[in-house]
Amino acid sequence: TAKKVQHTPYCLFSKDMRQQLSYLHEIEESLHRAVREKEFQVHYQPQYSLHSLKLVGAEALVRWPRSDRMVSPCEFIPLAEKFGLISAIGEFVFETAARQLQAWSHCKIELPRVAINTSSTQLLAGNFGDVVERILQENQLTANRIDIEVTESVMMKNIERNGNNENANCLSTLQEKGLEISIDDFGTGYSSLSYIKHLNVDRIKIDKSFIDDIEFNKEARSIVRAIIKMGHSLGMKVLAEGIETPNQLDILKALECDEGQGYLFSKPLDAAKFEMKCLSA
Ligand code: C2E
Ligand code: MG
Ligand code: MG
Ligand code: MG
Repeated sequence: TAKKVQHTPYCLFSKDMRQQLSYLHEIEESLHRAVREKEFQVHYQPQYSLHSLKLVGAEALVRWPRSDRMVSPCEFIPLAEKFGLISAIGEFVFETAARQLQAWSHCKIELPRVAINTSSTQLLAGNFGDVVERILQENQLTANRIDIEVTESVMMKNIERNGNNENANCLSTLQEKGLEISIDDFGTGYSSLSYIKHLNVDRIKIDKSFIDDIEFNKEARSIVRAIIKMGHSLGMKVLAEGIETPNQLDILKALECDEGQGYLFSKPLDAAKFEMKCLSA
């Protein structure tokens, strides 16, 4: 039987919508509390030179442990963005990673750099340059120990929205300070490559989705080859994300990809486990 349209003038929200709203409200409250109480943790995924297999860096990845489970950043980063909490979280991750990098240098762990994921909100907040300066100073780190990761969609969104490229300006200010800039998830954002020539970034991170297909898909392999060539001819380093098999590693080495990270080497680890891994290597 066909459903009858229900006329319920007093009920603006369906039960589902109400449930969803109260769920969102709950998450918002807990995210606010998590920021206040510094409930977040930072895990580190090692990055290696594919040429020497030496450790060249680590990507800092935020974690939110809750009583029942570890919440994935894919879930809460978009919400943090929506609730205006992303800059606070980003700053916490940056501070924690910088302090850790400094602490590790005292216990014989030579980690050349740490990579920090940034959102457009964080980058465009007028004070990001100052935040960076303060964090470097407080931890006595030189700027070249920090790699700022920005997704190409973040870059493009801002180029489009502003007509001029505020992000690039902000990024070039950071570069002038000596920080490295990497494009994250490269290849998933936009088909237009015209923005790249304006940016003069240090590193391209090829998205995992291409690496997933590199063994059995000729087209994926061609794309990866082309990205590596383009990156090199623009003077950039190229890092492959999400390397999971020895075969993928061999192909990437043959294509002269500079650096890589992925489960083949290591999952993201908490600071203690990262330390053990480095000291036992
Ligand atoms: P991303 O920056 O592209 O980070 C790489 C993601 O791929 C991480 O997921 C990492 O754990 C995962 N990964 C690395 N190697 C492999 C592999 O070999 N196989 C598989 N299946 N996965 C692999 P994670 O930690 O869940 O982070 C997801 C995304 O959340 C990140 O993607 C990044 O966009 C965002 N994110 C994480 N931390 C932060 C942060 O502090 N600030 C901001 N703004 N975003 C963050
Ligand atoms: Mg990243
Ligand atoms: Mg990535
Ligand atoms: Mg990715």
